[in-house]
Amino acid sequence: MNLPELTAQITAMGEKGFRAKQMYEWMHRKLCAGFDEMTNISSAFREKCKEGFTFTTLKVLERLESAIDGTNKFLFELADGNVIESVLMRYHHGNSVCISSQAGCRMGCRFCASTLNGLARNLTPAEMLEQIYQIQKISGERVSNIVVMGTGEPLDNYDNLIRFLHMISDENGLNISQRNITVSTCGLAEKIHQLAEEGLGVNLALSLHAPNDEARQKIMPIAKKYTISQVLKEFDYYFAKTGRRLTFEYSLVAGVNDSKEQAEELSALVRGKNCLINLIPVNEVKEREFKRSCSENIQNFKNILEKNRINVTIRREMGSDINAACGQLRKSYTDRKKEQEVTRA
Ligand code: SAH
Repeated sequence: MNLPELTAQITAMGEKGFRAKQMYEWMHRKLCAGFDEMTNISSAFREKCKEGFTFTTLKVLERLESAIDGTNKFLFELADGNVIESVLMRYHHGNSVCISSQAGCRMGCRFCASTLNGLARNLTPAEMLEQIYQIQKISGERVSNIVVMGTGEPLDNYDNLIRFLHMISDENGLNISQRNITVSTCGLAEKIHQLAEEGLGVNLALSLHAPNDEARQKIMPIAKKYTISQVLKEFDYYFAKTGRRLTFEYSLVAGVNDSKEQAEELSALVRGKNCLINLIPVNEVKEREFKRSCSENIQNFKNILEKNRINVTIRREMGSDINAACGQLRKSYTDRKKEQEVTRA
């Protein structure tokens, strides 16, 4: 519940309206773990709340810490037994958390581990918030940036995503600036249009990964539904509405999308746009045969974009010693669990 909803609920239950703000702050600013911690709320009312409402928390199943760069990877269990993963990355400019928006994914990108077992279900706004709350509590450090780039397609869970974005940036909660939040999408054109009209100031990133439709269709099934030009039109609209610089993610796969010609074609595609191309050396996933481009090809690709005056960075790899790439930890956990069940049977 957001604050207006909580206020309506609490007054309907016979409590004074200002209690709602106190309770909201307990949950979303002080990050309490249950009703009993709300010490300025009467115990009688806390009991009433316990009867009628569940308090969403996530259980930490695993926490891996990178010895290289301090990146932390968390595997959380949801109330219904589904598991999701989130990552804490430490940068000079602050702590960034990468959250999942769905348990699993149905987009089917060929290089991605998160989609291998399909979609289990959408995450609720509370489950998205909780990933950040838990990490801030466990690490004892403030989270200043959020990327919705973990498992799932955020725009495929649109309403919950919007609610989450409002609540995480609510001044009565953690109050994380929308400018410090990035939503990454494989390119659901209508939803990008809708997002542009929400009046939010979050950053948008597009998983582009290929300079033309033919090449993109080979690695991303969604490219059969929306052409690159349809998606870029909506990205332009998003920029016109929000003024936020656009990011294009481009995971480099050896022999698939890393040639010099493709670098030229990509330059022509984005020329004139206020954008950044983020080159990602693809993370090899054991169930997929894709190979990472060699460092020479990655550098050449970058040089061509730079020669064409396109803003480009190579994504710094973090947590490479702890399986920090999309979906790999979740996948290995669920596989292990299945194996155990089979052995037991
Ligand atoms: N569904 C959203 C967000 C989740 S994926 C999206 O498609 O953008 C976050 C990013 O990681 C996307 O750019 C995705 O294409 C990329 N990605 C997935 N698997 C990868 C892998 N094995 N190596 C490198 N990047 C990968």
